[in-house]
Amino acid sequence: TESLSNRDPDLYAAIRDELGRQRDEIELIASENIVSNAVLEAQGSVLTNKYAEGYPGRRYYGGCQFVDVVENLAIDRAKKLFGCEFANVQPNSGSQANQGVYTALLRPGDTILGMNLASGGHLTHGAAPNQSGKWFNAVQYGVRQQDCLIDFDQVAALANDHKPKLIIAGGSAIPREIDFVKFREIADSVGAYLMADMAHFAGLVAGGEHPSPFPYAHVVTTTTHKTLRGPRGGMILTNDAEIAKKVNSAIFPGIQGGPLMHVIAAKAVAFEEALQPQFKAYAGQVVKNAQALADELIKGGLDIVTGGTDTHVVLVDLRPKNVKGNETEKALGRAHITCNKNGIPFDPEKPSVTSGIRLGTPAGTTRGFAESEFRRIARLIVEVVDGLSANGEAGNAEVEQKVKTEIEELCSRYPIYRRL
Ligand code: PLP
Repeated sequence: TESLSNRDPDLYAAIRDELGRQRDEIELIASENIVSNAVLEAQGSVLTNKYAEGYPGRRYYGGCQFVDVVENLAIDRAKKLFGCEFANVQPNSGSQANQGVYTALLRPGDTILGMNLASGGHLTHGAAPNQSGKWFNAVQYGVRQQDCLIDFDQVAALANDHKPKLIIAGGSAIPREIDFVKFREIADSVGAYLMADMAHFAGLVAGGEHPSPFPYAHVVTTTTHKTLRGPRGGMILTNDAEIAKKVNSAIFPGIQGGPLMHVIAAKAVAFEEALQPQFKAYAGQVVKNAQALADELIKGGLDIVTGGTDTHVVLVDLRPKNVKGNETEKALGRAHITCNKNGIPFDPEKPSVTSGIRLGTPAGTTRGFAESEFRRIARLIVEVVDGLSANGEAGNAEVEQKVKTEIEELCSRYPIYRRL
């Protein structure tokens, strides 16, 4: 009965502070978004109390009649949203969705072919420090030096030389549409499974702004919290009944125990939201905003990897201004613009420094920003970067203060979570 503020003031204060940060700062981290109050409500519900090992109708615990309804709603909506036959909505994260597929289809020591981190791949696609790089023979492809697009000649050559059992398409810093037809051709040429990890652009697929990995991928993984705008979590989709069966066993009892039913409920809410016409408009605006942001940054003298974007991601090459990713992330943070330093392909700097920042438009689009706001944000970013360029790491405090005031004004015109 006691409220959180009374029961645990320190914890409560941290949550209020984070709410304030989200309200007053512009979120340009490409993998983040702003979920609806309905999603928050579902995730904060009594479903957190329930154990439901197994799947709807086949549980290892009693009292699952209502959580079965919840999980079936999530599954049905996911299938409808992505036009596929099977969905496993239980993975606790995108990483566990990928681990689930590997557990379903591979044995330790098998060969996998994924994109390297430096080119925009994800840790779970075979990077050395990740379990996927330790337990499998991970071979990695990258992008072409001349245009930073996926090097399909290299993918085909590596597939032919190493005969992977699984090829992975997708990544965390890919600003362009992925050609699943080509990936499937290469997979078929060596008898490999094709897994698409659409974690970043799932919301764009749902909104009709990015080609669907179906029917080309044998299996598709995603997170639910990025462009898709749901709770933090993962999901696995397929049209193949055999693969679906293996995936279900791999997630439970293979790598997880009791599913997070409150999170699955929030996923169901988010999928329903994504089925609405407004979500299509949001997805279209996400891409238009990213293109406006990229265009205005180029006008301000920055380079954009691949020269622009087809998605929500803008990968900025800071080298024309002679500044680094780490100091730029910090300077923008002081001005209340949140982003992350990010390696660019063939980056001469180490990963803790980098020559780039990764920007994304999903969260800003959700709060209501359109192209004019994103062009203004781009000009403010350029002002802060120019301050760094002229003054070194300390930046230009006066400019940063002025930008911060403008950002706060912009945020107050597009408020979020007014009722919290
Ligand atoms: N796959 C891709 C392409 C990602 O970008 C990410 C997250 O950054 C993941 C998987 C992992 O998701 P999670 O952070 O939920 O484990």
